[in-house]
Amino acid sequence: MKKQVTIIGSGIVGAVTAYYLSADPTLDVTIYDEGIGQATKNSAGIISPWLSKRRNKRWYQLAKDGAALYPEIVDATQMGYSVYQQAGTIVTRENPDDLQALYYLANERKQQAPQIGHIETLTAAEVQDRIPLLTNPQPGVFISGGARVDGDKFAHNLLKYAEERNLVRHKGKVTLGDQGQLLTTHGQQSYDTLILAVGAWLKPLLLPMKLVADVRPQKGQLIELQLPETWGDNVPVLMPEGERDFIPFTRNKLVVGATHEDDMGYDLQVSSLIEDDLFASGLKLDQDLNKDEITQVKVGTRAYTRDFAPFFGPLPDNPHILVASGLGSSGLTTGPMIGKLLAEYVQTGQQDWARYTKPVENYLEEAD
Ligand SMILES: Cc1cc2nc3c(=O)[nH]c(=O)nc-3n(C[C@H](O)[C@H](O)[C@H](O)COP(=O)(O)OP(=O)(O)OC[C@H]3O[C@@H](n4cnc5c(N)ncnc54)[C@H](O)[C@@H]3O)c2cc1C
Repeated sequence: MKKQVTIIGSGIVGAVTAYYLSADPTLDVTIYDEGIGQATKNSAGIISPWLSKRRNKRWYQLAKDGAALYPEIVDATQMGYSVYQQAGTIVTRENPDDLQALYYLANERKQQAPQIGHIETLTAAEVQDRIPLLTNPQPGVFISGGARVDGDKFAHNLLKYAEERNLVRHKGKVTLGDQGQLLTTHGQQSYDTLILAVGAWLKPLLLPMKLVADVRPQKGQLIELQLPETWGDNVPVLMPEGERDFIPFTRNKLVVGATHEDDMGYDLQVSSLIEDDLFASGLKLDQDLNKDEITQVKVGTRAYTRDFAPFFGPLPDNPHILVASGLGSSGLTTGPMIGKLLAEYVQTGQQDWARYTKPVENYLEEAD
């Protein structure tokens, strides 16, 4: 009899977990997703963790290993440039000392993370050469290992891949009973292992089990533009100082974003004020942008914990239920590694969680 693994949530964590589990013919895997507010579908798509100033070593390990998994998964599933490409990242700084410090940091980090690739300082004119769209470039540091990913297409492709093997997908919201019973619109479903990869929605989902998860939602918005001019596949992502990121995808899609809006709960309304603000950010970099070129404003909900770190692993009193949440603003980067770790645990019953996350109990409290 095959083991039944059920995943709730088909964002990056759920999709990557399903992808890894699809290699195991002894499993039947089912995924449920409500399909609302998903961070993965509405993300900007920058994969470039190496120059982060964050001091959390576990987070850095996770982000570094997550970034390194992309080329592997993309190769194995034959995804094209419109989904993922290592076109490089340029981080700009006005102050020459800051630029130099960034350059040294990149070289230092490269010793442990060769995926950073080639590192170069660029003059403003050289930055413009690499990203011809820019009309107001600043000098910057280029790293060739930086990448952009279309999170929506990436997760979609992984789910399709897994569906051809052992995955069945259902749309709809699920809830849990007080003992972790899985309640769907078609009644209670049994499982051997349940994986709650529900991003910002972990807290409401766990409440019936009298567990309060340390997860709060944060609203993020970005704009997508379709420009009249086209550019090659190799245009890097720009991470400017104090401005929104500027992400030229293949052909003529440009993304500018994203916002970090606290205290908005699970609100998914597009705000025209924010849209104007994002457009103004883009305009500072490319003065030829036109508002009519905005094709979409995307809104997603990120999950944050009090210490801004993701957490994942089995529930303390129930090893058959795994949780993963709190991926924050770098979840496209850390998500693949989290999915891989969860899948390995399902298959082997073992995992070196401590290398990547504090114990799950640090992020859970008993409800009164
Ligand atoms: C605007 C924006 C820009 C971003 N840009 C970047 C970036 O450039 N680089 C980067 O690394 N990260 C970025 N992120 C962060 C990243 O997108 C997230 O951290 C990551 O996608 C979270 O993945 P997840 O699988 O944990 O959750 P999600 O992708 O949110 O998926 C959770 C899924 O679970 C479903 N669900 C929840 N509850 C239930 C239920 N009860 N029943 C059924 N389904 C349920 C939801 O509907 C959702 O589809 C960005 C995020 C946003 C919002």
